[in-house]
Amino acid sequence: MARVRPRLVIVSNRVPAIRAKAALAGGLAVALKDAVTARDTLWLGWSGKETESAQAERPHTRRTGGLTLATIDLTHAQYAGFYVGFANSMLWPLFHGRVGQPAFHRSDLAMYLEVNTLYAQALKTLLKADDTVWVHDYQLITCGAALREAGVKNRIGFFLHIPFPPPFLFETLPQGEQLLRSFAAYDVIGVQTQDDADNLNACLARAHIVARAEPFAIGIDPDLYAKAAAAADGSEDQLRLEGSLGGRALILGVDRLDYTKGLPERFRGFAQLLRRYPEHCKHVTFLQVAPVSRGDVAQYRTLKRELDGLAGKINGEFAEFDYVPLRYLNTAIARDTLAGFYRRAAVGLVTPLRDGMNLVAKEYVAAQDARTPGALVLSRFAGAASAMQGALMVNPYDPDEIADALHAALKLGVAERRTRWRSMNAAVQASTAAIWARAFLDRLEAE
Ligand code: UDP
Repeated sequence: MARVRPRLVIVSNRVPAIRAKAALAGGLAVALKDAVTARDTLWLGWSGKETESAQAERPHTRRTGGLTLATIDLTHAQYAGFYVGFANSMLWPLFHGRVGQPAFHRSDLAMYLEVNTLYAQALKTLLKADDTVWVHDYQLITCGAALREAGVKNRIGFFLHIPFPPPFLFETLPQGEQLLRSFAAYDVIGVQTQDDADNLNACLARAHIVARAEPFAIGIDPDLYAKAAAAADGSEDQLRLEGSLGGRALILGVDRLDYTKGLPERFRGFAQLLRRYPEHCKHVTFLQVAPVSRGDVAQYRTLKRELDGLAGKINGEFAEFDYVPLRYLNTAIARDTLAGFYRRAAVGLVTPLRDGMNLVAKEYVAAQDARTPGALVLSRFAGAASAMQGALMVNPYDPDEIADALHAALKLGVAERRTRWRSMNAAVQASTAAIWARAFLDRLEAE
């Protein structure tokens, strides 16, 4: 007989948005969909609101079906120090290996610890003795330790969605040992890849901390993308895209506007394709979807200016009165529309400089038509790369290598595209979001 599972408690920076028809939106919510719908769940996160004073002792709760959303507000100073400061100006660049970019301020670290404690205090007011707690990502590394300090005895797991850097980088973080020590509060520590586990374990060992990270690769719901992609045929957006392409091949990039995604190098790679392989001029369109994210962090604004300039320069060089080679948008595209665009694209271009996993690569594969699949050009520094043997692998720092891979991808015959796609699709099917969540929770709840 199936064991009745205790309540699941998820803690993440934000709670998912509840759309009409109670559908869960947002990346983590999609990944956790099966786990959340299968059992009673409490999900705690920031409300998105900045208030005069934080009120951890009274989280705001809302129930929808078997899911309770609990939210806390943060003060402006907490948001600035914890989120904009330590999490996104220090940990995010450091963990992605961006030497020189991370900005450390002791006051930001203090705010990070304070807000992690705030989450823990808020959670404690709602926690039952047998709840299973699952804390997510780099914003909340010390939340587990704060929960233990508050006397919480429950099983607590932690999953890091972004990469973990090797010791020589991690050890540049002032007071980093405090962060490392807090990993010992967790019963299970999950990371995306074996490399991430090796890096974190090496750091823990060097600091003589008894804790061990294990890889659990996150995935997508491939059937959802396959169905949405097939259903998009004949939709208004698909017809508009088709009409605008005028029969040209489509290269598609989809990323948050983030400096880890390698967008300037990618734009230069596309320009090199047109320069070095002029046969593609007028026959290929590159569509880069890049919704603005973290606009309140200075580096993101600088990146946007750089891309605006590059896009103008490339189109200035290669456009003709009836041909614009690069289409660059800063607005987000809805999932169902995106699925159809993936299917229409001859090449999925995914070239992050470093990425925990990269779900776009998996979504591109899942959305293809098995009879006429497109090709994937993929950075070897994406977590997804190790399982994607069928992709054309590139070093994303080299625009010429991107150009060569794009040229090769556009020239691939259908038989080879099918062979490559079958191996990539098998990998996507073997490592779905549902499998990821189940594996992590089984491990956390193992007797
Ligand atoms: N995404 C989207 N619309 C957009 C751009 C991105 O729905 O206009 C989604 C995309 O489909 C993917 C997620 O955002 O599911 C991005 O996840 P990924 O792991 O690739 O990168 P992250 O943003 O987490 O670094």
